[in-house]
Amino acid sequence: AVLARQRLREANRWARAGAVLRDLEARCATPAERLRQVADAMAAEMRAGLACDDDSESGDGSALLKMLVTYVDSLPSGVEEGLFYALDLGGTNFRVLRVQLGGKEQRIIKQESKGVSIPKHLMSGGSDDLFDFIAAALANFVASEGEDYHLSEGMQRQLGFTFSFPVKQTSIASGTLIKWTKGFAIDEMVGMDVVEELNKAIRRQGLDMKVTSLVNDTVGTLAAAKYVDNDAIAAVILGTGTNAAYIDHAHKIPKWHGPLPKSGEMVINMEWGNFRSSHLPLTEFDQALDVESLNPGEQIYEKLISGMYMGEIVRRVLLKMAQEASLFADNVPPKLETPDILSTLHMLMMHQDTTPDLKTVGIKLKEILGIESTCYKTRKAVVDVCEVVARRGARLAAAGIYGILKKLGRDTVCPEQRTVIAVDGGVYRYYKFFAQCMESTLSDLLGEEVASSVVIKQANDGSGIGAALLAASYCQCLG
Ligand code: BGC
Ligand code: MG
Repeated sequence: AVLARQRLREANRWARAGAVLRDLEARCATPAERLRQVADAMAAEMRAGLACDDDSESGDGSALLKMLVTYVDSLPSGVEEGLFYALDLGGTNFRVLRVQLGGKEQRIIKQESKGVSIPKHLMSGGSDDLFDFIAAALANFVASEGEDYHLSEGMQRQLGFTFSFPVKQTSIASGTLIKWTKGFAIDEMVGMDVVEELNKAIRRQGLDMKVTSLVNDTVGTLAAAKYVDNDAIAAVILGTGTNAAYIDHAHKIPKWHGPLPKSGEMVINMEWGNFRSSHLPLTEFDQALDVESLNPGEQIYEKLISGMYMGEIVRRVLLKMAQEASLFADNVPPKLETPDILSTLHMLMMHQDTTPDLKTVGIKLKEILGIESTCYKTRKAVVDVCEVVARRGARLAAAGIYGILKKLGRDTVCPEQRTVIAVDGGVYRYYKFFAQCMESTLSDLLGEEVASSVVIKQANDGSGIGAALLAASYCQCLG
């Protein structure tokens, strides 16, 4: 009788766990019809954002796509020459980089970079603390410049600054921070010119260097992609955060009142992470995550598809399965209640476990959450949750790209037209399931014929190099 009761309890547990999972699946569903609605909404929001110059950062306007004018009206062509530096500040790491450009024939002669991780306390401390830390690392890096790098006679060292947050640019080399994303929260910096702050910190280091371009990571990635492939028209970052930049016709930007660029074009930083739409499949887990985040109500699309959040969504689902279905034995594992304990990197390692017995999942559960998962079914349930969350994110990202292609009229067959979209970021690079799911979803949405002319190209570390390239192409113009 005891045994029978135990079996019944077991069966009950699995029934409840299954119910949570099926409910999650249903709420995260992204059938093609819904993705088309998301893409249409994205294209519509793009047009609205290009029309409306929203200077007020609060109120209804803030839900709009910012569609920021970048002042990048021509992308590097290859003729750039000389020694240039870049500083890439975005997620949890920042990188310094130098490159010797040799013009049309030689292109990139030599390049070097160094990554430095940002101590967490600097992400929410004072502005000077952050910039002093960055400038010191930059000074160190400059000091290590080898003899094979050459600064042209009489030139000051030039720096491209990749700053991967929403910035309202006032020129190619100035702009004010609109708001923080991705866990940064240095309040006093909002509204400040980030280039001015960096230049001041550079001077405090006694370094002789000047910022000649300020770019978003998507814009740097697009510049680097265009440098090697003239058909590149957009760049997408799927990393800690997410965003896209693309090239538009200047005359299709109603809010642009500046002179018409010679190229007739302008790169737009969409800040698509802030996209929202009633068509986005949001669950109770997403809502709770948003409310408890550093930026509630903002970056809703980003919170569905980027690295800072997907692992955390999985944690929340597992917690519910632990509470309501005793997924991990009778007690709720205490660590599972700790926000952000499960990163997207952990998630993808478990999801992509290829060992027959899901051994890796078991090891990770133990390592990260202190969970002893003796049963295969439990580990399989964890994998299933990861898959639902990753699939939704990947499919929504594909819908976003499809939206851009629609806006540009590149969603139809056009002979001899090739469309290249550069993609970078940790989620795209390391989460193979995500990358593949995104690409196949985009193909499905486009249809076979159009899809054959659209190329998704992995861009490796383009954001830094791109900023250096833009520093090179814009330094002359500054005089
Ligand atoms: C930022 C963007 C950035 C993206 C990817 C987002 O959180 O708002 O500016 O491009 O992350 O790094
Ligand atoms: Mg980055």
